Amino acid sequence: MLKGKNAIVTGGSRGIGKAIAIRLAMEGANVAVFATKETKETMDFVKELHTYGIKAVFVSCNVALEEEVKTAVAKVIEAFGSIDILVNNAGITNDKLLMQMKSEGFERVLNVNLLGTFLMIKECIRPFMKQRYGRIINISSVVGMMGNAGQANYAASKAGVIGLTKSIAKEYASRGVTCNAVAPGYISTQMTEALPEATTQAILEQIPIKRLGTPEDVANVVAFLAQEETSYLTGEVIKIDGGMYI
Ligand code: NDP
Repeated sequence: MLKGKNAIVTGGSRGIGKAIAIRLAMEGANVAVFATKETKETMDFVKELHTYGIKAVFVSCNVALEEEVKTAVAKVIEAFGSIDILVNNAGITNDKLLMQMKSEGFERVLNVNLLGTFLMIKECIRPFMKQRYGRIINISSVVGMMGNAGQANYAASKAGVIGLTKSIAKEYASRGVTCNAVAPGYISTQMTEALPEATTQAILEQIPIKRLGTPEDVANVVAFLAQEETSYLTGEVIKIDGGMYI
């Protein structure tokens, strides 16, 4: 259970992040949802989170911008008093073959997926150290382990997240702060909806558990890593891919 714990979920407004926010709220954690767009749908979702008997806030924050991250984390501390759980889930793709990929497109993906994860951890690490407690969970991808044609930028960012996770795990283990990553395979969300049917079929062929993953499949593992009881588990990368990459 996560009763009384305070969590930030970046990119918590839809897809995997939304499922994580719901799962943490179900376990009793207060949840701050970070995203760049303050839509009616997102505000309704944050209201819905209150029905779990927890505090929930929406914080507008582009994780790739240091000043926005600083202000946003301060707002959460003001609202909740402290932070115990940080889920770095915000992520984007900009798929192109290398020949067509411009450095601007490469950088944009790296800035959100990798620099954004770094900035969020950097801003939360002081409060974590002070309270000698923290759970950091980063959302990587199996693509960061196996590579993928058309995703050089995305794969590089997600491989970077794994290196970052392991380094943070080593640096802050003695302070009661654990840092782990999950590496989802193909999960049904807006990000994967855009794939042509033939591509989805080809992907299914490679998945021993013959289905795409759901956001809840990821949220269940994140909720496990967020528990106080996982204090001896750090620097780990858990694949959630139906056996696609074994
Ligand atoms: P979605 O595109 O459905 O959702 C992305 C979320 O991130 C939204 O809430 C979006 O809100 C937010 N976001 C995007 N850019 C920023 C930013 N700069 N700052 C803050 N928030 C931002 O993605 P998924 O749910 O599919 O993916 C979630 C994570 O899981 C990503 O890191 C992705 O790489 C990873 N993943 C997904 C897989 C999949 O198959 N779907 C597989 C493996 C990993 P807004 O637009 O308002 O900013």
